[in-house]
Amino acid sequence: MLSGTQLSDGMRSVFVELLVHGPLSRAEAARRLDLSPSALTKLTKPLLESGFLLRQPVGDRGALGRPSQPLAVDPSRAALIGIKLTEDELFAVRTDLRAETQSELRRPLASHDVDDIVTCIREVVRELNGPGTAAAVVGISLAGTASGGDPVVPTSPFLGWRNVPLGNLVAEATGIPTVVENDVRALTAAQQWFGAGVGRSSFALVTVGAGLGCGLVIGDRLVRGAGRGTGLVGHMAIHDSGPLCEMGHRGCARAYASSAAIRRAVSGILDRPELTFEACLALAAEGQPAARRIFEDAGRALGQVVATVANITGLELVILSGEAVAMYDVCADAFDAALAAHTHWTSTPVDVVIKPFTFNEWARGAAVIALQHRILGSGA
Ligand SMILES: [Zn+2]
Repeated sequence: MLSGTQLSDGMRSVFVELLVHGPLSRAEAARRLDLSPSALTKLTKPLLESGFLLRQPVGDRGALGRPSQPLAVDPSRAALIGIKLTEDELFAVRTDLRAETQSELRRPLASHDVDDIVTCIREVVRELNGPGTAAAVVGISLAGTASGGDPVVPTSPFLGWRNVPLGNLVAEATGIPTVVENDVRALTAAQQWFGAGVGRSSFALVTVGAGLGCGLVIGDRLVRGAGRGTGLVGHMAIHDSGPLCEMGHRGCARAYASSAAIRRAVSGILDRPELTFEACLALAAEGQPAARRIFEDAGRALGQVVATVANITGLELVILSGEAVAMYDVCADAFDAALAAHTHWTSTPVDVVIKPFTFNEWARGAAVIALQHRILGSGA
């Protein structure tokens, strides 16, 4: 709920429509929500009285020449905190209700001990809140099988966790309602409401980095599956004579396109074990032939993954992101060729948008998940 305001389903729909698409004239809001003008007035009245909605000062003129004041959400009415946990660092943001970042920070993780991490989160939340009003919710995202409505993290391989009640522990430590979510789904939620997915009823977010991930929005719903993980594209078979992944699969997508696999392949073939992924990417960008060939193989694998996701779901847009997405610059032709070759011949080619990556985007995604679950109570 919005503090002090119990949301009916109708009020929630109006609020979300204005949050994501606003400001909107009353006529446009009523049209989009298929409501009569009087029904819209009834639903917006308590939201206006509690200050969550504002009448925009400058209005256009309606058909009868009467001034109409568009409605908008007041984004400053509540603050959100989003936190992304990686294997060795914590990234955190404080945002407004539209997930615009107000402040951000990062901390190294001293250990994977649950108590240590909860303590670190408590200090980060305190610092981001400062002396002002505390954030209304905390969202935490991490790689693993966490899923919005459940405070328990069933598995997080990077942190070595099983069945950790992280949501409850952080809520107790901070006094703020807390939501925990898989990181790719959280990033997808942010794209759905405040990013390249706005206005698209079906799209995918494909991430490339330490692993490959895929978040899906189908028919305006974020796909959560039945608790067994979703978008698990990393070990999709690409070529039966390719390199091995750490699970022993020959030629899976991850064996070609994860940042670790690329680094291993380039540094191995050049006999330069000190090369980082970024250094390998720089060599490929300079035209070093062996490095370039390995990045092109990665691009082809990624293009096949994206085509397969699009073929199965019929979606219209794929947003490509993740900490290794800069590699697209050196393998775009290979990616595009593989995408075209593997797209079903009856299908319309999917739009691909490249989204440059920052870790704070992951944290922002966590803030959006917290907004959806604990403020709007919808789980969207
Ligand atoms: Zn594999």
